[in-house]
Amino acid sequence: LSSTRDPDSGGRPARAGEFQLIERYMAPLAAPRDGEDGGGDAFGLHNDAAVLPPLAPDERLVVTVDTLIQGRHFLDCPAETVGRKALRVNLSDLAAMGARPLGYLLASAWPQDIEEAWIADFCRGLAADQETFGVTLFGGDTTATSGPMTLSLTAFGKLNGATALDRGSVRPGDDIYVSGTLGDAYLGLRALCGELDGLAPAARDTLVRRYRLPEPRLALGQALLDEGLARSALDVSDGLAADLGHLLEASGVAAEIELAALPLGDAARQALTLLAEPPEVVLGGGDDYELLFAAAPGQRAAIAALAERLGLAITRIGRAGAGSGLVVRDAAGREVFLQHRGWTHF
Ligand SMILES: [Mg+2]
Repeated sequence: LSSTRDPDSGGRPARAGEFQLIERYMAPLAAPRDGEDGGGDAFGLHNDAAVLPPLAPDERLVVTVDTLIQGRHFLDCPAETVGRKALRVNLSDLAAMGARPLGYLLASAWPQDIEEAWIADFCRGLAADQETFGVTLFGGDTTATSGPMTLSLTAFGKLNGATALDRGSVRPGDDIYVSGTLGDAYLGLRALCGELDGLAPAARDTLVRRYRLPEPRLALGQALLDEGLARSALDVSDGLAADLGHLLEASGVAAEIELAALPLGDAARQALTLLAEPPEVVLGGGDDYELLFAAAPGQRAAIAALAERLGLAITRIGRAGAGSGLVVRDAAGREVFLQHRGWTHF
Protein backbone atom coordinates (compact mmCIF):
# COMPACT_ATOMS: atom_id res chain seq x y z
CA LEU A 1 0.00 0.00 0.00
CA SER A 2 1.67 3.15 -1.14
CA SER A 3 1.18 6.76 -0.27
CA THR A 4 0.96 9.56 -2.80
CA ARG A 5 1.00 13.33 -2.56
CA ASP A 6 -1.91 15.47 -3.57
CA PRO A 7 -0.63 17.99 -6.14
CA ASP A 8 -2.93 20.55 -4.46
CA SER A 9 -0.83 20.34 -1.33
CA GLY A 10 2.24 21.62 -3.20
CA GLY A 11 4.21 18.41 -2.69
CA ARG A 12 4.10 18.59 1.09
CA PRO A 13 3.35 15.28 2.83
CA ALA A 14 -0.38 14.80 2.34
CA ARG A 15 -0.94 14.22 6.01
CA ALA A 16 1.22 13.95 9.12
CA GLY A 17 1.70 10.39 10.27
CA GLU A 18 0.29 8.76 7.16
CA PHE A 19 2.75 5.88 7.24
CA GLN A 20 1.97 5.24 10.89
CA LEU A 21 -1.74 5.29 10.02
CA ILE A 22 -1.18 2.70 7.29
CA GLU A 23 0.87 0.56 9.65
CA ARG A 24 -1.56 0.91 12.54
CA TYR A 25 -4.91 0.55 10.77
CA MET A 26 -4.46 -0.77 7.23
CA ALA A 27 -1.74 -3.40 7.63
CA PRO A 28 -3.87 -5.53 10.02
CA LEU A 29 -6.56 -5.66 7.31
CA ALA A 30 -4.01 -7.23 4.96
CA ALA A 31 -3.09 -10.08 7.30
CA PRO A 32 -3.60 -13.57 5.82
CA ARG A 33 -6.90 -15.08 6.88
CA ASP A 34 -6.74 -17.62 9.71
CA GLY A 35 -5.90 -21.13 8.64
CA GLU A 36 -5.77 -20.18 4.99
CA ASP A 37 -2.72 -20.45 2.84
CA GLY A 38 -4.09 -19.46 -0.53
CA GLY A 39 -0.60 -18.99 -1.97
CA GLY A 40 -1.01 -15.20 -2.23
CA ASP A 41 0.52 -12.51 -0.05
CA ALA A 42 -0.03 -8.82 0.63
CA PHE A 43 3.30 -8.83 2.58
CA GLY A 44 1.74 -6.79 5.39
CA LEU A 45 1.60 -3.91 2.85
CA HIS A 46 5.42 -3.61 2.99
CA ASN A 47 6.08 -4.41 -0.64
CA ASP A 48 5.26 -2.50 -3.80
CA ALA A 49 2.51 -4.88 -4.82
CA ALA A 50 0.66 -7.96 -3.68
CA VAL A 51 0.91 -11.46 -5.11
CA LEU A 52 -2.48 -13.04 -5.72
CA PRO A 53 -3.18 -16.72 -5.01
CA PRO A 54 -3.28 -19.02 -8.03
CA LEU A 55 -6.60 -20.19 -9.44
CA ALA A 56 -7.54 -23.74 -10.37
CA PRO A 57 -7.37 -24.39 -14.14
CA ASP A 58 -11.17 -24.19 -14.59
CA GLU A 59 -11.58 -21.07 -12.43
CA ARG A 60 -11.68 -17.48 -13.72
CA LEU A 61 -10.69 -14.24 -12.01
CA VAL A 62 -13.43 -11.56 -11.82
CA VAL A 63 -12.57 -7.91 -11.13
CA THR A 64 -14.76 -4.88 -10.47
CA VAL A 65 -14.23 -1.31 -9.26
CA ASP A 66 -16.54 1.30 -7.76
CA THR A 67 -15.84 4.80 -6.50
CA LEU A 68 -17.74 6.43 -3.66
CA ILE A 69 -17.60 10.18 -3.14
CA GLN A 70 -18.69 11.80 0.09
CA GLY A 71 -21.88 13.83 -0.33
CA ARG A 72 -22.66 12.03 -3.58
CA HIS A 73 -22.60 8.31 -2.80
CA PHE A 74 -22.57 8.45 0.96
CA LEU A 75 -24.16 11.09 3.08
CA ASP A 76 -24.31 11.39 6.84
CA CYS A 77 -22.80 7.94 7.40
CA PRO A 78 -20.82 6.94 10.50
CA ALA A 79 -17.15 6.14 9.72
CA GLU A 80 -17.68 2.53 10.69
CA THR A 81 -20.20 2.05 7.84
CA VAL A 82 -18.43 4.01 5.06
CA GLY A 83 -15.73 1.46 4.23
CA ARG A 84 -18.23 -1.35 4.60
CA LYS A 85 -20.53 0.25 2.03
CA ALA A 86 -17.62 0.71 -0.39
CA LEU A 87 -16.75 -2.97 0.04
CA ARG A 88 -20.33 -4.19 -0.16
CA VAL A 89 -21.27 -2.38 -3.38
CA ASN A 90 -18.29 -4.06 -5.04
CA LEU A 91 -19.18 -7.46 -3.59
CA SER A 92 -22.67 -6.87 -4.98
CA ASP A 93 -21.14 -6.57 -8.46
CA LEU A 94 -19.32 -9.87 -7.90
CA ALA A 95 -22.65 -11.38 -6.80
CA ALA A 96 -24.24 -10.21 -10.03
CA MET A 97 -21.61 -12.20 -11.94
CA GLY A 98 -22.07 -15.32 -9.81
CA ALA A 99 -18.54 -14.96 -8.39
CA ARG A 100 -17.03 -15.76 -4.99
CA PRO A 101 -15.09 -12.88 -3.39
CA LEU A 102 -11.35 -13.15 -2.69
CA GLY A 103 -10.09 -9.74 -1.65
CA TYR A 104 -9.83 -6.08 -2.56
CA LEU A 105 -7.67 -3.05 -3.21
CA LEU A 106 -8.56 0.26 -1.62
CA ALA A 107 -7.53 3.66 -2.97
CA SER A 108 -8.59 6.40 -0.60
CA ALA A 109 -8.34 10.18 -0.69
CA TRP A 110 -9.07 11.56 2.77
CA PRO A 111 -9.66 15.18 3.71
CA GLN A 112 -6.48 16.63 5.21
CA ASP A 113 -8.11 17.40 8.55
CA ILE A 114 -9.49 13.90 9.07
CA GLU A 115 -9.20 12.63 12.63
CA GLU A 116 -7.38 9.45 13.53
CA ALA A 117 -10.48 8.20 15.40
CA TRP A 118 -12.43 8.38 12.14
CA ILE A 119 -9.84 6.22 10.36
CA ALA A 120 -9.82 3.77 13.28
CA ASP A 121 -13.62 3.39 13.07
CA PHE A 122 -13.53 3.12 9.28
CA CYS A 123 -11.00 0.28 9.48
CA ARG A 124 -12.85 -1.45 12.32
CA GLY A 125 -15.93 -1.59 10.07
CA LEU A 126 -13.87 -3.03 7.23
CA ALA A 127 -12.36 -5.65 9.54
CA ALA A 128 -15.85 -6.79 10.58
CA ASP A 129 -16.97 -7.11 6.96
CA GLN A 130 -13.78 -8.92 5.96
CA GLU A 131 -14.76 -11.52 8.53
CA THR A 132 -18.38 -11.66 7.32
CA PHE A 133 -17.53 -12.04 3.64
CA GLY A 134 -14.23 -13.94 3.84
CA VAL A 135 -12.07 -11.35 2.10
CA THR A 136 -8.79 -9.62 2.85
CA LEU A 137 -7.11 -6.37 1.82
CA PHE A 138 -4.60 -6.99 -0.99
CA GLY A 139 -3.25 -3.44 -1.02
CA GLY A 140 -4.04 0.05 -2.16
CA ASP A 141 -3.09 3.66 -2.05
CA THR A 142 -3.79 6.45 0.39
CA THR A 143 -3.62 10.17 -0.19
CA ALA A 144 -5.07 13.41 1.12
CA THR A 145 -7.32 15.76 -0.78
CA SER A 146 -8.71 19.26 -0.44
CA GLY A 147 -11.94 17.94 -2.00
CA PRO A 148 -14.53 15.50 -0.63
CA MET A 149 -13.47 12.11 0.67
CA THR A 150 -13.18 9.68 -2.23
CA LEU A 151 -12.90 5.91 -1.92
CA SER A 152 -12.19 3.67 -4.86
CA LEU A 153 -12.40 -0.01 -4.11
CA THR A 154 -11.47 -2.80 -6.51
CA ALA A 155 -12.77 -6.24 -5.62
CA PHE A 156 -11.46 -9.57 -6.90
CA GLY A 157 -13.50 -12.74 -7.07
CA LYS A 158 -13.45 -16.07 -8.82
CA LEU A 159 -15.83 -18.11 -10.91
CA ASN A 160 -15.98 -21.88 -10.68
CA GLY A 161 -16.11 -22.21 -14.44
CA ALA A 162 -15.59 -20.20 -17.59
CA THR A 163 -19.00 -18.54 -17.71
CA ALA A 164 -20.52 -15.77 -15.61
CA LEU A 165 -24.04 -14.49 -15.21
CA ASP A 166 -24.43 -12.10 -18.11
CA ARG A 167 -26.63 -9.08 -18.82
CA GLY A 168 -27.17 -10.01 -22.44
CA SER A 169 -28.78 -13.42 -22.01
CA VAL A 170 -32.46 -12.70 -21.24
CA ARG A 171 -34.80 -14.50 -23.65
CA PRO A 172 -38.43 -13.66 -24.51
CA GLY A 173 -40.66 -15.64 -22.16
CA ASP A 174 -38.19 -15.57 -19.26
CA ASP A 175 -39.55 -14.66 -15.85
CA ILE A 176 -38.04 -11.57 -14.20
CA TYR A 177 -37.17 -11.82 -10.50
CA VAL A 178 -35.75 -9.56 -7.84
CA SER A 179 -34.32 -10.51 -4.43
CA GLY A 180 -35.12 -8.91 -1.07
CA THR A 181 -37.13 -5.69 -0.91
CA LEU A 182 -36.99 -2.54 -3.03
CA GLY A 183 -36.81 1.13 -2.13
CA ASP A 184 -35.52 0.82 1.44
CA ALA A 185 -32.18 2.49 0.80
CA TYR A 186 -33.69 5.25 -1.31
CA LEU A 187 -36.23 6.00 1.41
CA GLY A 188 -33.46 5.72 4.04
CA LEU A 189 -31.55 8.44 2.21
CA ARG A 190 -34.67 10.60 2.15
CA ALA A 191 -35.02 9.99 5.89
CA LEU A 192 -31.42 11.20 6.36
CA CYS A 193 -32.33 14.28 4.31
CA GLY A 194 -35.08 15.08 6.83
CA GLU A 195 -38.07 14.11 4.69
CA LEU A 196 -39.41 11.39 6.97
CA ASP A 197 -39.28 12.93 10.41
CA GLY A 198 -42.77 11.63 11.28
CA LEU A 199 -41.77 8.00 10.66
CA ALA A 200 -41.69 5.54 13.58
CA PRO A 201 -38.06 5.24 14.81
CA ALA A 202 -37.85 1.49 14.16
CA ALA A 203 -38.97 1.91 10.55
CA ARG A 204 -36.60 4.82 10.06
CA ASP A 205 -33.70 2.77 11.47
CA THR A 206 -34.50 -0.10 9.10
CA LEU A 207 -34.44 2.18 6.06
CA VAL A 208 -31.31 4.09 7.09
CA ARG A 209 -29.46 0.87 7.79
CA ARG A 210 -30.36 -0.43 4.34
CA TYR A 211 -28.92 2.77 2.85
CA ARG A 212 -25.72 2.57 4.84
CA LEU A 213 -25.15 -1.19 4.71
CA PRO A 214 -26.41 -2.93 1.58
CA GLU A 215 -26.44 -6.74 1.59
CA PRO A 216 -24.51 -8.19 -1.34
CA ARG A 217 -26.48 -11.26 -2.49
CA LEU A 218 -23.43 -13.45 -3.00
CA ALA A 219 -25.00 -16.80 -2.13
CA LEU A 220 -27.88 -16.10 -4.50
CA GLY A 221 -25.64 -15.11 -7.42
CA GLN A 222 -23.42 -18.16 -6.94
CA ALA A 223 -26.39 -20.53 -6.73
CA LEU A 224 -28.08 -19.05 -9.81
CA LEU A 225 -24.92 -19.61 -11.81
CA ASP A 226 -23.63 -22.87 -10.34
CA GLU A 227 -27.03 -24.59 -10.39
CA GLY A 228 -27.87 -23.32 -13.86
CA LEU A 229 -31.05 -21.58 -12.68
CA ALA A 230 -30.41 -18.30 -14.49
CA ARG A 231 -28.16 -17.03 -17.26
CA SER A 232 -28.68 -13.34 -16.75
CA ALA A 233 -28.43 -11.05 -13.71
CA LEU A 234 -27.35 -7.64 -12.50
CA ASP A 235 -27.40 -5.83 -9.19
CA VAL A 236 -29.83 -2.96 -8.74
CA SER A 237 -27.73 0.10 -8.00
CA ASP A 238 -29.31 2.89 -10.06
CA GLY A 239 -32.96 1.90 -9.47
CA LEU A 240 -34.91 -1.06 -10.77
CA ALA A 241 -36.41 0.71 -13.79
CA ALA A 242 -33.01 1.92 -15.01
CA ASP A 243 -31.19 -1.32 -14.28
CA LEU A 244 -33.87 -3.54 -15.77
CA GLY A 245 -33.65 -1.25 -18.80
CA HIS A 246 -29.93 -2.06 -19.04
CA LEU A 247 -30.66 -5.78 -18.86
CA LEU A 248 -33.35 -5.60 -21.56
CA GLU A 249 -31.23 -3.45 -23.84
CA ALA A 250 -28.23 -5.74 -23.53
CA SER A 251 -30.44 -8.73 -24.31
CA GLY A 252 -32.52 -7.12 -27.08
CA VAL A 253 -35.83 -7.95 -25.38
CA ALA A 254 -38.82 -6.15 -23.83
CA ALA A 255 -40.44 -6.73 -20.43
CA GLU A 256 -43.59 -6.06 -18.49
CA ILE A 257 -43.58 -5.87 -14.73
CA GLU A 258 -46.50 -5.72 -12.33
CA LEU A 259 -46.59 -2.89 -9.84
CA ALA A 260 -48.53 -5.01 -7.35
CA ALA A 261 -45.77 -7.65 -7.39
CA LEU A 262 -42.94 -5.32 -6.30
CA PRO A 263 -41.54 -6.49 -2.96
CA LEU A 264 -41.89 -3.63 -0.48
CA GLY A 265 -41.04 -4.00 3.19
CA ASP A 266 -43.24 -2.71 6.00
CA ALA A 267 -40.92 0.22 6.71
CA ALA A 268 -40.96 1.29 3.06
CA ARG A 269 -44.77 1.08 2.94
CA GLN A 270 -45.03 3.23 6.05
CA ALA A 271 -42.63 5.76 4.53
CA LEU A 272 -44.56 5.93 1.25
CA THR A 273 -47.83 6.42 3.14
CA LEU A 274 -46.26 9.25 5.13
CA LEU A 275 -44.91 10.86 1.95
CA ALA A 276 -48.24 10.25 0.17
CA GLU A 277 -46.30 8.83 -2.78
CA PRO A 278 -47.23 5.84 -4.95
CA PRO A 279 -45.23 2.57 -4.85
CA GLU A 280 -43.70 3.13 -8.30
CA VAL A 281 -41.35 5.80 -6.88
CA VAL A 282 -39.14 2.98 -5.58
CA LEU A 283 -38.45 1.97 -9.20
CA GLY A 284 -36.57 5.23 -9.66
CA GLY A 285 -34.65 5.09 -6.37
CA GLY A 286 -31.11 3.67 -6.28
CA ASP A 287 -28.90 1.81 -3.82
CA ASP A 288 -31.02 -1.34 -3.45
CA TYR A 289 -28.14 -3.72 -4.25
CA GLU A 290 -30.60 -6.54 -4.74
CA LEU A 291 -30.13 -9.01 -7.58
CA LEU A 292 -32.38 -8.69 -10.61
CA PHE A 293 -32.35 -11.76 -12.81
CA ALA A 294 -34.20 -13.61 -15.54
CA ALA A 295 -34.93 -17.34 -15.60
CA ALA A 296 -36.91 -19.74 -17.76
CA PRO A 297 -40.46 -20.50 -16.47
CA GLY A 298 -39.38 -24.13 -15.99
CA GLN A 299 -37.18 -22.98 -13.08
CA ARG A 300 -39.98 -21.59 -10.89
CA ALA A 301 -40.04 -24.49 -8.42
CA ALA A 302 -36.23 -24.60 -8.16
CA ILE A 303 -36.08 -20.84 -7.55
CA ALA A 304 -38.77 -21.05 -4.86
CA ALA A 305 -36.74 -23.84 -3.21
CA LEU A 306 -33.59 -21.71 -3.43
CA ALA A 307 -35.36 -18.76 -1.76
CA GLU A 308 -36.41 -21.09 1.03
CA ARG A 309 -32.89 -22.49 1.42
CA LEU A 310 -31.27 -19.03 1.50
CA GLY A 311 -33.94 -17.53 3.76
CA LEU A 312 -34.20 -14.72 1.23
CA ALA A 313 -37.30 -13.37 -0.52
CA ILE A 314 -37.09 -13.88 -4.28
CA THR A 315 -40.06 -12.33 -6.05
CA ARG A 316 -41.24 -12.89 -9.61
CA ILE A 317 -42.17 -9.38 -10.77
CA GLY A 318 -42.77 -9.80 -14.48
CA ARG A 319 -41.85 -11.37 -17.76
CA ALA A 320 -39.62 -10.70 -20.74
CA GLY A 321 -41.05 -10.62 -24.26
CA ALA A 322 -40.09 -9.87 -27.83
CA GLY A 323 -39.39 -6.25 -28.77
CA SER A 324 -37.85 -3.54 -26.65
CA GLY A 325 -38.64 -1.34 -23.66
CA LEU A 326 -40.08 -1.72 -20.19
CA VAL A 327 -43.77 -1.44 -19.34
CA VAL A 328 -45.03 -1.28 -15.77
CA ARG A 329 -48.69 -2.24 -15.21
CA ASP A 330 -50.96 -1.59 -12.24
CA ALA A 331 -53.39 -4.16 -10.80
CA ALA A 332 -56.01 -3.17 -13.37
CA GLY A 333 -53.57 -3.75 -16.23
CA ARG A 334 -53.10 -0.04 -17.00
CA GLU A 335 -49.65 1.22 -17.91
CA VAL A 336 -47.97 3.21 -15.12
CA PHE A 337 -46.04 6.32 -16.12
CA LEU A 338 -42.68 6.58 -14.35
CA GLN A 339 -41.65 10.12 -13.58
CA HIS A 340 -38.13 9.16 -12.50
CA ARG A 341 -36.54 6.19 -14.16
CA GLY A 342 -33.48 6.08 -11.97
CA TRP A 343 -30.20 7.60 -11.01
CA THR A 344 -27.95 8.94 -13.70
CA HIS A 345 -24.38 9.97 -12.97
CA PHE A 346 -24.04 12.95 -15.33
MG1 LIG B 1 -23.56 -3.48 -10.80
